[in-house]
Amino acid sequence: MKGIYILLISIKRNILPKIGALGNIKLAKGTYAYVGSAQNNMEKRIKRHLSKDKRFHWHIDYLLDNTDTEIKKILTKKSVKTEECRTAQRLSKMDEPIIGFGCSDCRCKSHLFKVDTLKLGGFKDETKNHLRQHSKTRL
Ligand SMILES: [Zn+2]
Repeated sequence: MKGIYILLISIKRNILPKIGALGNIKLAKGTYAYVGSAQNNMEKRIKRHLSKDKRFHWHIDYLLDNTDTEIKKILTKKSVKTEECRTAQRLSKMDEPIIGFGCSDCRCKSHLFKVDTLKLGGFKDETKNHLRQHSKTRL
């Protein structure tokens, strides 16, 4: 499947992780939404986000490596790539953008937002599929 996805990430305490070239950024305890797109293979992309064993490439790789972060929800939507930034821009009107995160290749303020609850519709909840498979592979 091709499309975009949102990872809802829980950060359990205030942290100051080093996010690649962005440097150390302050993130308060709470829930965050990360917007990405997978134009080849959604399954594979999400598996990559869940895997700890990878070479860091994106800002999100650094964040998910932090032991105080955890992916809580995985939402996907069949769509074209332009929908990724459109979604990020909608979120930046409703939620607090973490400036510069995940948007090195576009003109958005950010692709990571501190959210209370996600107020976007039209996404399919794929959390169970992925997190169940993931815990299986770890056993
Ligand atoms: Zn963007």
